[in-house]
Amino acid sequence: MIAPDLPTAVDRLRDLIESSDVVLPFTGAGISTECGIPDFRSPGGIWTKMAPIPFDEFVSSQSMRDEAWRRRFAMQDQFGDARPGRGHRALAALHRQGKAPAVITQNIDNLHQDSGIPAANVIELHGNTTYALCLDCNKRYELPWVRERFDKAGGRAPDCPHCSGFIKTATISFGQAMPEDAMRRAGELTESCDLFLAIGSSLVVWPAAGFPLMAKRRGARLAIINREATDFDDIADLVIRDDIGAVLEPLMTR
Ligand SMILES: [Zn+2]
Repeated sequence: MIAPDLPTAVDRLRDLIESSDVVLPFTGAGISTECGIPDFRSPGGIWTKMAPIPFDEFVSSQSMRDEAWRRRFAMQDQFGDARPGRGHRALAALHRQGKAPAVITQNIDNLHQDSGIPAANVIELHGNTTYALCLDCNKRYELPWVRERFDKAGGRAPDCPHCSGFIKTATISFGQAMPEDAMRRAGELTESCDLFLAIGSSLVVWPAAGFPLMAKRRGARLAIINREATDFDDIADLVIRDDIGAVLEPLMTR
């Protein structure tokens, strides 16, 4: 059913959560928009104006790596100070209460970790843009370290000092292999939850689309909180098309 208004939505959601042992939040860009981070895929979003750099172009071209890092630092200046919103804090509260063992996210902004959920319990399907990794030896680099070398070299992306591999934000780019461990854990969590809570995701981008269906097939209930309709609204037990922060905020004080 589609919740007719905000108070009903909050009540129904609370009932679903109270009557569940394991709640699995699955989050997309919509949970972070109130933090000032735009949905890159939305109409008018950055990706409709500036095509993302595919993985094969990143690894085959120094100028593409330079461009990727130039864009990343421009984003840092715009969104680098973003803090967790009401939705993130509510899910962190569910985690602390033992209701939600982990969160699956399509977001790369690190805001679930910033809200207090341990990194080990945040399953990132698209990686994380707040730090970088060497594509060869997997050594981690922090953004200020990359930026200092980038600036000193006049806007040239640095390579790994240890192995000369390319250094890239820890995100999954188009054309890059999905993170196997995250995909496996997301599948296991989905199969063992009894409430799948899709929040702020259009559930269109693969692999996101597969999880709600998997949860329903295993007998879990499905709640969808999203501004726009999704392809799974028909099979959902509860559909809420309201402001995510307003819907989730009351969960902080159960
Ligand atoms: Zn390396």
